[in-house]
Amino acid sequence: MPAKSRYKPVPSNRNTAYTLDAETRLEVVTLIGDFYETAARHFGFCPEVPEVRFDLRGRTAGQWRVQRGVERLRFNELLFAATPEAHIPDTVAHEVAHSAVYRCYGPKKVRPHGREWQRVMALFGVEPRVTHRTCPETLARVLDQHLYRCACRSHALGPRQHRHVRKGQRHYLCRACGERLVWVPES
Ligand SMILES: [Zn+2]
Ligand SMILES: [Zn+2]
Repeated sequence: MPAKSRYKPVPSNRNTAYTLDAETRLEVVTLIGDFYETAARHFGFCPEVPEVRFDLRGRTAGQWRVQRGVERLRFNELLFAATPEAHIPDTVAHEVAHSAVYRCYGPKKVRPHGREWQRVMALFGVEPRVTHRTCPETLARVLDQHLYRCACRSHALGPRQHRHVRKGQRHYLCRACGERLVWVPES
């Protein structure tokens, strides 16, 4: 039986700093839908929104991929939460623009950030930036965070807390739902 003292409420300052609240998540998903509507109206393709995940990790803020004809958008929750103004709308527009180019030109050889992509970015009213503007200090802090989930939301734990959990010395409990936090390793 694990000692009761190993279960601690998650430190509250870690609770929200690096994770997206439901409102911001919804804002991103709504923005994605708006960009698809705009592009679809302009280019005449189907505005269907592909699967959206917030499971991207590391330095990459966003990713659009197509596999066997199925598109997927992935975003980095920790980066979005740390500097939302750097990614909303820029990173969101960047990735949807890749999707729009694909829907217009198919898997033909079009330069990823070429004229076609830049034209979609202009349509979205977003500067066609290829890299995101996260300052090195913020990036270093984000890369130090480890993503956890409970029954109701995600949490970020710093290196020290993560070490405690991995060694089985301590477990953290969500202050909202009371469930134990489970580590989400990079996929
Ligand atoms: Zn790109
Ligand atoms: Zn919870």
